[in-house]
Amino acid sequence: MFQRRILCGIQPSNVPHIGNYLGAIKKWIDLQNSGDNLIVMLADLHAVTIPREPDALRKSTLETAASLIACGIDPKRSIIYRQSDLHHHTQLSWLLGTLTTVQKVGHIPTYKSKVKDETSIPLGLFLYPILQTADILLFKTTHLPIGEDQIPHLQLCTYMIEKFYHYYKQNIFPVPQMMATETTRIRSLRHPEQKMSKSDYEERSRIDIMDDEKMIQERVMKALTDFNAQVSYNREQRPGVSNLIDIYAGITSQSIESIVNEAQQNNHNTGQFKKRLAEIIVEHFRSKRLEYLKLMNDRTYLLNILDDGRKRAKEIADKTLNEVKHIMGF
Ligand code: AMP
Repeated sequence: MFQRRILCGIQPSNVPHIGNYLGAIKKWIDLQNSGDNLIVMLADLHAVTIPREPDALRKSTLETAASLIACGIDPKRSIIYRQSDLHHHTQLSWLLGTLTTVQKVGHIPTYKSKVKDETSIPLGLFLYPILQTADILLFKTTHLPIGEDQIPHLQLCTYMIEKFYHYYKQNIFPVPQMMATETTRIRSLRHPEQKMSKSDYEERSRIDIMDDEKMIQERVMKALTDFNAQVSYNREQRPGVSNLIDIYAGITSQSIESIVNEAQQNNHNTGQFKKRLAEIIVEHFRSKRLEYLKLMNDRTYLLNILDDGRKRAKEIADKTLNEVKHIMGF
């Protein structure tokens, strides 16, 4: 009944890091290259739950667009656009917000954990899952390539679809299915018990995929490991070195076991393993980085791509928003 449609979202608050790449972008590109049409949303509205430096946001949004295209998102096949270019998201978010309660949203675990020790909670943090539901429903999304941590948000979305049906007796939204993404979470290079995150103030905690060779080498070599120089895998007891093995596995598609065996056969200690990992990462992103630099030097071309994406996304969004407004009595 509903056309297969996949929505992929990324906050453009910084150049994507290697966790974003292995956990999301690489998978999106595989989906696209096996024939799926993607809607790739640069979620700039989600990036401002607190005020941002305007020029930095503008810059990082373009950098994110260029990174995605350089990695293989094809703007002819997929739609790539900026969320803030369509007023539809915020309007639908308001309309859908009538279907839920403060209590329901307040119970979402991601929200609860973020505000646990806060005395002053940014309103955007609370409204975030409702805007996310609007993003999903605006395109009548059927599939979402998201991680386990997003399950509570997907449950809220499903709840709101049911509520919409309950009030208006119209079945206009597909219940989106989560596409299992198997990659292990890539963790911070400095605090390997936490996930690698764009919002980590410590820049050395991540590898941004468009970093230059020297920076990648520096970040990998300085990654926190432990006193044991042997290369072995144990995420609980040896989170630092295991995280590096996870990155290695993500880039090369080799199994953990064969990576560890290879390192042991070559008598590589963690230092030598880091060196090899840095080489592999640099090699993997070399041509992508050149493409990225080319795109960043051609702002007009990049802006045209985003404008084309906006138009194509708007065609779908206009239809849904008009339909919802009509059903709701506007
Ligand atoms: P974000 O822009 O941080 O919301 O993330 C964009 C995509 O990258 C989402 O699909 C996230 O699940 C994924 N992602 C973010 N951080 C990591 C990480 N450390 N490891 C694996 N995937 C991640």
